[in-house]
Amino acid sequence: MQAEVNIGVLGHVDHGKTTLVKALTGKWTDRHSEELKRGISIRLGYADMSIYFCEHCNRYTINKKCEKCGNTTTFKRKVSFVDAPGHETLMATTIAGSSIIDGALFVIAADEPCPQPQTEEHFMVLNALKIKHVVVVQTKIDLVSPQRARESKKEIEAFLKNTAIAHAPIIPVVATHGINIHYLLEAIQREIPTPKRDETKPARMYISRSFDVNKPGTPIEKIKGGVLGGSLVCGVLRKGDVVELRPGIDTKKGIKPISFEVSGLRAEDEELDEARPGGLIAVGTTLDPALTKSDSLIGSVIGHKGTLPENANELTIEYEIIRKGQEALDFRIGEPVVLNVQTSTTVGIITKKEKSSFTAKLKRVVCVEKGSAVAISKRIGQRWRLTGWGRVI
Ligand code: GDP
Ligand code: MG
Repeated sequence: MQAEVNIGVLGHVDHGKTTLVKALTGKWTDRHSEELKRGISIRLGYADMSIYFCEHCNRYTINKKCEKCGNTTTFKRKVSFVDAPGHETLMATTIAGSSIIDGALFVIAADEPCPQPQTEEHFMVLNALKIKHVVVVQTKIDLVSPQRARESKKEIEAFLKNTAIAHAPIIPVVATHGINIHYLLEAIQREIPTPKRDETKPARMYISRSFDVNKPGTPIEKIKGGVLGGSLVCGVLRKGDVVELRPGIDTKKGIKPISFEVSGLRAEDEELDEARPGGLIAVGTTLDPALTKSDSLIGSVIGHKGTLPENANELTIEYEIIRKGQEALDFRIGEPVVLNVQTSTTVGIITKKEKSSFTAKLKRVVCVEKGSAVAISKRIGQRWRLTGWGRVI
């Protein structure tokens, strides 16, 4: 079965995001740090969790049998967590731009004063994305006194006061020992509903991974086509569908869209006949696996033929500066910016600028929809910092 809702996991580095996802799903999503160091690619870390309910104990669980009474539990729903592994700031912007998040767990550790720098930064991301379905997870309560735990809760409440997520529940947990996970599950069920999906829209999937699944030396007649991983944002994709991928692949005449047939669909270890929005899916294709190897198609989009936007080599973005009171951070003509939109990360140079919009000429063509959210980073000193937020117009 496919997950039906995607939940982003955000929060300051070392506050326990990956540990929490492990406690909830049994999976360790943080395995890409080597890639990150080498600067090859930044992949979203997904892990799925099934939520069950014990009628007898009136308690949520991640197990098919209740850990309290041993009775068989009732399946409620499957959710997918999208973790921020590796470089926290970049990952937040990647998640933010990816347009696949329906709700969020906002992780804040009790043993440090709130807010920490990325607590603030990730809060801005949630705000800019207008994500209102949020559960705050207060981790590491085993490391502090009851008094400090209460003080930390007050700090969190003060930080969120008068914001769009002021009423988000704060669930104290010990992520390393899975303590209070049932309360967290209850809060997730209550606060993060599965959005209504429009299945009549044409299918659209943002690629967040791509691979060649063939072992070296596989005889030619046994070679499998390239595989694409990502999330559907709308519509239904079926085995046998003919779809197009944009912006496409490098040819002598530049980057050209390419078409292929969907030869198989998977969610985690399960074969699917059709896929819907929610969770990570793998799409088997009739593409030459050389085209999909080593994540080379991250940032691409697939959809039924004739339904995708045209490729663009410049984008006009209506934006706002997300760091309040820091107008000095506004963008300038001639300045380079990093844009995260859908699953693509692209570098552009600003060529035109109005009061609250700019046009950037891109190093590489992209295929993005009008209205897509864009996270905008600018260079400050030696680093790229998230300073703006906008929409493609
Ligand atoms: P991330 O950077 O937010 O993904 O943080 P990690 O999940 O990698 O956790 C950072 C460190 O905090 C690890 O050593 C964890 O074992 C530890 N940790 C996470 N949650 C808890 C918790 O609730 N209690 C305690 N004692 N340690 C925790
Ligand atoms: Mg982590």
